Amino acid sequence: MKVTIKHWRAVAAWRWDMPEDDVCGICRNPYDSTCSKCKFPGDECPLLMGDCNHSFHMHCIFHWIKQEASQERCPMCRQVWKAKGSDARDAES
Ligand SMILES: [Zn+2]
Ligand SMILES: [Zn+2]
Ligand SMILES: [Zn+2]
Repeated sequence: MKVTIKHWRAVAAWRWDMPEDDVCGICRNPYDSTCSKCKFPGDECPLLMGDCNHSFHMHCIFHWIKQEASQERCPMCRQVWKAKGSDARDAES
């Protein structure tokens, strides 16, 4: 019954990848709240989703990326961070 096991594993992996708790992986505040630096949720403190499908408060990920130790990688999966849909990477100077 290899197929069954494979299937089960796939489901397990998928579940593991899901953001089970809807909190920012950097500040641990909920996505519908603000980062730890802001007081009021809204446009001032938007969420950014990366190519790796991890989301963070914009302020959190920007702050994280600026730290040398981050190596500009997603703190959750260690992929190089790139905001989702931002093909116009050259435009940011
Ligand atoms: Zn945050
Ligand atoms: Zn903020
Ligand atoms: Zn990630």
